[in-house]
Amino acid sequence: MSDTKTDTPKKLFIKTYGCQMNVYDSERMAESLEGYVQTDTAEDADMILLNTCHIREKAAEKVYSELGRLKPLKDLKPDLKIGVAGCVAQAEGAEIMRRQPAVDLVVGPQSYHRLPQMEARLREGKTALDTDFPEEDKFAHLKGRTGARRAPAAFLTVQEGCDKFCAFCVVPYTRGAEVSRPAERVLREAQELVERGVREVTLLGQNVNAYHGDMTLAQLIRALGKIDGLERIRYTTSHPNDMDDDLIAAHADTPKLMPYLHLPVQSGSDRILKRMNRSHTAESYLRLIERIREVRPDIMMSGDFIVGFPEETEADFQATMDLVEQVNYGYAYSFKYSTRPGTPAASRAQVDPAEADERLQRLQALITRQQRAIQESMVGRDLSVLVEKAGRNAGQMLGKSEYLHSVHIDNSTAQIGDVVPVRITRAMTNSLTAREL
Ligand code: SF4
Repeated sequence: MSDTKTDTPKKLFIKTYGCQMNVYDSERMAESLEGYVQTDTAEDADMILLNTCHIREKAAEKVYSELGRLKPLKDLKPDLKIGVAGCVAQAEGAEIMRRQPAVDLVVGPQSYHRLPQMEARLREGKTALDTDFPEEDKFAHLKGRTGARRAPAAFLTVQEGCDKFCAFCVVPYTRGAEVSRPAERVLREAQELVERGVREVTLLGQNVNAYHGDMTLAQLIRALGKIDGLERIRYTTSHPNDMDDDLIAAHADTPKLMPYLHLPVQSGSDRILKRMNRSHTAESYLRLIERIREVRPDIMMSGDFIVGFPEETEADFQATMDLVEQVNYGYAYSFKYSTRPGTPAASRAQVDPAEADERLQRLQALITRQQRAIQESMVGRDLSVLVEKAGRNAGQMLGKSEYLHSVHIDNSTAQIGDVVPVRITRAMTNSLTAREL
């Protein structure tokens, strides 16, 4: 046991950037550091961890700026420990400590199970650096998820890494090859989370439907569906080529699997999809959605789009707009292409930035129109809501519908963790209002 365990626990502040997997990793890192409790303010902390993301442009520079802002805190409080975790830690490694000597610890996403040993080094006045892709399974070396009651919706990582090598993406380089966790450990973790009050798990993976941990993802979802007290299951992020027939069937035969699917396509142009190394066409993506809607007609589709990918013409962009029109997305995330050093697309002819901006605005206007229409179509419908917290107004509770809408329930008698039937009374830009049935 760590000798940091004293009557007055130390305070840990974690700032999480990027994706849901980083949210999950931050939670696991906090749980692994015995003798620490989490705080919401950096000024209060004995240790600050930046859990970084490398997806956006100039990600590393942004981390160096943040570290520059934290340095005066360390000048005031020399015992403060500062650490960098996540994908920027993986990509930059020792360079982080060289450029910002206030940093005591650098840990990559595959080695954070070693944080307790690294923290012990810090207490000896040393620094700690670990950006290995270790042989051992990090999850097998993390503590169980037992502990105090927690929020009713949780992330649960089942798969990491990616073998797809899309031409714009750094994930295969920062998170490594695809690795799936053994199903039995995932099921145990889900059970532990349920014992702490969790009612909904979102299974996470960079390529979650490529899961192959001695079960397929469909089999894992069905096994999770048998856990008493676990009411809802979601999964993200999926690749179209890994949506097999059984996973599609699970959307029909597993009631706990929610009718929401994030299925990125990135572009509607076959020429650009090829240049992106996506290994599917716009047509195959549309046929896939048709097949999913055949078994689950009400499924809410969500997507990702990159606008202004190198060599994208107006005709390519128009193909993306046509695809969006056909799918009718409930949610979609669109970004202007930005170069990620080290990826194949980084050295290709770039689209004029003003042109890319203008396309992005057109795409976002279309997506917003679709989202708004879908939100409004919910008024008068009966949905179920997992209650996650109290709202701002007296008697109001907040939660998520099966389609992942944020729903405010007025005059509610529900408790946090309840799944309650509601009727939608009003649609607002980013949420719905409802009354209990
Ligand atoms: S499938 Fe997703 S994670 Fe893998 S390379 Fe493509 S965009 Fe990146």
